[in-house]
Amino acid sequence: MDLKPKHSASSLNIFSIMTSLAKKENAWNLSQGLPDYPIAPELADLLKEAVVEGYNQYPPMPGLKALRKNISIELNKKYQTDFCNTDVVTITPGATYSIFTALTSLINRGEEVIYLEPAFDCYLPAIEINGGVPVKVTLSAVDNFALDWQKIKEAISEKTKAILINTPHNPTGYIWTQEDWRQLALLIGEKDIFVLSDEVYDNIIFDGKKHNPGFLQPSLEGKVVSLYSFGKTFHITGWKIGYVVASEALTSAFRSVHQYLTFSVNSPAQYALARYLEMYNPLEAAYMLQKKRDLLIDELKKSRLTKLDTSEGSYFQLYDYSAISNLPDTDFAKWLTTEYKVATIPLSAFFRFPQNDKIVRLCFAKRDEVLIKAAEQLRKI
Ligand code: GLN
Repeated sequence: MDLKPKHSASSLNIFSIMTSLAKKENAWNLSQGLPDYPIAPELADLLKEAVVEGYNQYPPMPGLKALRKNISIELNKKYQTDFCNTDVVTITPGATYSIFTALTSLINRGEEVIYLEPAFDCYLPAIEINGGVPVKVTLSAVDNFALDWQKIKEAISEKTKAILINTPHNPTGYIWTQEDWRQLALLIGEKDIFVLSDEVYDNIIFDGKKHNPGFLQPSLEGKVVSLYSFGKTFHITGWKIGYVVASEALTSAFRSVHQYLTFSVNSPAQYALARYLEMYNPLEAAYMLQKKRDLLIDELKKSRLTKLDTSEGSYFQLYDYSAISNLPDTDFAKWLTTEYKVATIPLSAFFRFPQNDKIVRLCFAKRDEVLIKAAEQLRKI
């Protein structure tokens, strides 16, 4: 039987490994990016209400109209545009699915897809499983993983069909500026290259910074698929629900695959989110997580971990541990969990091959007491 792997990524998922090691070791878990605090009670009530009200059967293929409409209203208001409407928004079972389905819709076997390391772990396998040829651009820890436009330019070839980017970035917390988008548009020019823009942390942005969504870039019109996650904004990662925004032509390409991959998405969750969008405070998640980021940074000031650039957005902050240990990052993360009872994610998880950077990622989407206790442990090293 031919059971050849369909991709070259690790078969073991480091996020699950570190969370289960944290459980086994009874450690404070700052590894996997999932909140450990309760969700808004109003949202929980709306989900219950949806089930009782009978929203339990297949919703329309592109998503409940009320939800797509409210997303459009919200995005148009936020970015002062009239781009969004129910024909350019599609509800999906989460961003990982959106990336995969966008690739299936847009690329053909043998076409190249550029992605930038450090990169979230699903990018590489999603490209390969879809028959694409991954072309990685490795950004350097020495430059704090700054975008290297020369390297990106060199990665573009006749066969390039798409580039996958992420803003705000997991794990660096970097937010693409308008100038970054301009640079990318210059490189793409008239070429038929699509941009898959992973923007799942679009609402978790700190220090008054602004998110610049891909779908609104004028010089990339009709080329960008922006993908979003309710999981991050509303702390409901387990609901597995998000949405995609793209031009009508790209949306219809996406939907033509989507309808045969999953057809539709969890109905009561869509109902609950449609209603909740009318009542929530859009700044709340950012406000709450900025306080958590600052708490963690403050608590770790007296530790021997050295902070990299302060996270501008996302759930994460990177730290250098070279003053503590020479261990490779995965070994260090395991040692830290076992010996000091704090679980983190080694930065190598975001690279095709292990790195020698001595950096770990800490997730601050955790209860304050967990951040305080974890930091207390980390200060002992
Ligand atoms: N996106 C989250 C993180 O970066 C969860 C990843 C996962 O569990 N696959 O930690």
